Amino acid sequence: MVFKKLILVFLGPPASGKGTQAEILGKDLGIPVISMGELLRHEYNHHTKMGREIEKYLKKGELVPDNIIQKILLKRLKKEDVKRGFILDGFPRRIEQIVYLEKIKQKFLSPFDFLVVFYIRISDREAKVRVVNRRVCECGAAYHLKYNPPKKKGICDICGKKIYRRQDDDPKIVNKRLKDFHHRIKPILNYFADKNVLIEINGEQRIEKVQKEIKNKLNKFLNFV
Ligand code: AMP
Repeated sequence: MVFKKLILVFLGPPASGKGTQAEILGKDLGIPVISMGELLRHEYNHHTKMGREIEKYLKKGELVPDNIIQKILLKRLKKEDVKRGFILDGFPRRIEQIVYLEKIKQKFLSPFDFLVVFYIRISDREAKVRVVNRRVCECGAAYHLKYNPPKKKGICDICGKKIYRRQDDDPKIVNKRLKDFHHRIKPILNYFADKNVLIEINGEQRIEKVQKEIKNKLNKFLNFV
């Protein structure tokens, strides 16, 4: 499907499934997924100095400061596997982060390559239900207690570790997270829409159907430009 180098960006409200969709597409295209949330949780789970700083923001459901985000992303982008393109999950999340994304684009892409942005749309009502039922594992696996529970209660199917609720999935802060999200995402979506690189996806469908819509729309986009 891909003949050019791609940077794909996945944006969407909490629990919109952007991480899941990015992983499926990344495997299919043979390019790595760089999940900002995962990179931050990795620091936090390994109790690094930066991880302790990050914890303060994750606990409150707030965005982590840009200097930390840039440091972590820069380190990840030094790895060899990004040379053929990559997927960014959850970045940019603040309008200021677009400046950094443009720098990344200049460094990695030639004028013949593409940056494409997917926005996975789900309603706030759906996001709240999903957040409350979401459980994750340190290995990156994610579960929904009703629709996609682990085979053994409380245990990850993939690595056998205990699954847990993310700190920022606390039902008490989900409304605030959603409000902040909408406030911040608007100018970001406008920016990409103006550049004609924004593709909207209906996230309220079965996982396979969402993926099909993503692939169809990406193919169409690449054939048109
Ligand atoms: P996610 O796994 O994408 O839902 O991200 C989990 C949390 O990590 C968010 O609620 C933020 O606190 C933080 N985070 C993720 N991406 C970013 C970003 N681009 N900028 C700042 N904070 C971020």
